[in-house]
Amino acid sequence: MACFVCKGQLVDKLTNFLADLGDCIVVIKNVPSQVCIQCGEISYNNETARKLEEIINSIRHSPTEIAVINYNTRKVA
Ligand SMILES: [Zn+2]
Repeated sequence: MACFVCKGQLVDKLTNFLADLGDCIVVIKNVPSQVCIQCGEISYNNETARKLEEIINSIRHSPTEIAVINYNTRKVA
């Protein structure tokens, strides 16, 4: 698989995912992702993207302003 931005090579890496929901900032750590060694573009496979969405939806209505979650344990730190 090649980077969809620059066609560079993608390597498997754990990265931190950040989502700004307006009222709440969500940081999900150690997300399995593919990172382009050329431009740094990060992409996720379908399963990971779905799980990220699931995690975000589960805390969307929580009263916290900043949520830090570990992807593997899904526990709020
Ligand atoms: Zn790239």
